[in-house]
Amino acid sequence: MNSAIGIKLPEEILAIQAGIEAFVRKEVLPRHERHGDILSDPRKKYTDEGRYVPPVVELIREVRMASAAAGYFNMSAPESIGGGGMGLLAYYAAWERIFHICGGHHWLATYALSHWAFGPSPVLTQVTPRAREEILADMLAGRKSMCFGLSEPGAGSDAAMLKTRAEPDGDGWRITGRKLWTSNSPQADYCIVFAITNPEKAAKKQGGISAFLVPMNAPGFEIESIVKVFGHVGGDEGALRFERVRVEPWQLVGEMDKGFAIALLGVSLGRVYNSARSVGLSRWGLEKAVSYVQQREAFGKPISEYQGVTFPLAESATEVHAAHLMAINACMLLDSGQPAIKELSMTKAYSVQVAARALDRVMQAHGAMGLTNEMGLTDAWEVVRTINIGDGTNEILYKTIVQRLLKGDTDL
Ligand SMILES: Cc1cc2nc3c(=O)[nH]c(=O)nc-3n(C[C@H](O)[C@H](O)[C@H](O)COP(=O)(O)OP(=O)(O)OC[C@H]3O[C@@H](n4cnc5c(N)ncnc54)[C@H](O)[C@@H]3O)c2cc1C
Repeated sequence: MNSAIGIKLPEEILAIQAGIEAFVRKEVLPRHERHGDILSDPRKKYTDEGRYVPPVVELIREVRMASAAAGYFNMSAPESIGGGGMGLLAYYAAWERIFHICGGHHWLATYALSHWAFGPSPVLTQVTPRAREEILADMLAGRKSMCFGLSEPGAGSDAAMLKTRAEPDGDGWRITGRKLWTSNSPQADYCIVFAITNPEKAAKKQGGISAFLVPMNAPGFEIESIVKVFGHVGGDEGALRFERVRVEPWQLVGEMDKGFAIALLGVSLGRVYNSARSVGLSRWGLEKAVSYVQQREAFGKPISEYQGVTFPLAESATEVHAAHLMAINACMLLDSGQPAIKELSMTKAYSVQVAARALDRVMQAHGAMGLTNEMGLTDAWEVVRTINIGDGTNEILYKTIVQRLLKGDTDL
């Protein structure tokens, strides 16, 4: 129940929120309590190389599989591949509730539902029948996962600058190149790799790039290193190298030379997910701050009496409320079949910035306590700061919004 929102969410969405909340309370939070020693301690969480240690990989898998068994994991994957076919409002509502409850510390929550790039999503509607046969059952059960190799050292926002090549080799191809920032790659079983198949078309930015499904253990495919950020000793993004990796026609995903169409299939899900993550984590943080400022005293009274402490929280509460409403609205538009390109771009760009500001203010209101590992606020801030870049930077989203405005899409 949310008494601040006038839009009445459908009963089935409220039921999903309640169900997913019960799920994370049963399957995610207790795992963090039982295994907090490794899940919260970077010295134990990662190998020397910077990957998650095997028990952590197993816990991630357990959460995915428990969610699949409970009927949540694939709820927004298309029905044609065995998913629940639920819309984006359901996806948003579920993720927002997950992060609102789990906050910064209980990061296994990120595996409570299938993320489009790691598990079943519209992307898998584009694999060949043989690939479907080989991977789908394991993916739907959460036993296996994948990653999405588009970005490269020289190709980020302008993904068409990628250099990885797939050169013809008999009836198939050999892929050579490098990928960077590939999330979930250290523990994935498959990678969807984007490579140039028609250099002339690619040079003119008229297609010429195809997507391939490649097992992580394919000969010639290796994770060169784990990308580390914020001073951490490990991470979940890999730098990948392909050295003449053989792929066959059954591994082609979607149409030849039209790989970017595959990338677009996950865009809405990704942006809805990151908006939900931003709103959920902000709400979790703001609630902590509201409680703390009433208990903490300075100069003879609770710090909630000082407007210098509380007005920034009020401003962030206002912004997060707006971001929440924007997200609900964008999802409703998408679910009704409208493209909502402008509205979803606005929502993602706004919510991630609002969240980074909110969590920074929440830390400030906690004083030194706000910086401690045990509060989890810095973890949450790092997540939202990161997604100001990942999944379409704020600037690229503004570029999209401007393009829409200039095309006459000026409704607000
Ligand atoms: C945590 C994380 C996970 C990621 N996971 C994946 C993944 O799984 N798979 C994958 O393929 N990629 C992944 N990425 C890569 C991500 O897609 C890129 O980081 C993103 O597209 C931006 O590219 P870049 O970092 O190379 O920045 P650049 O493209 O080099 O941009 C640098 C700066 O210039 C700005 N800029 C660029 N062009 C313009 C323009 N036209 N107008 C205004 N400003 C502009 C950008 O906004 C940015 O501020 C991930 C990134 C992060 C941080």
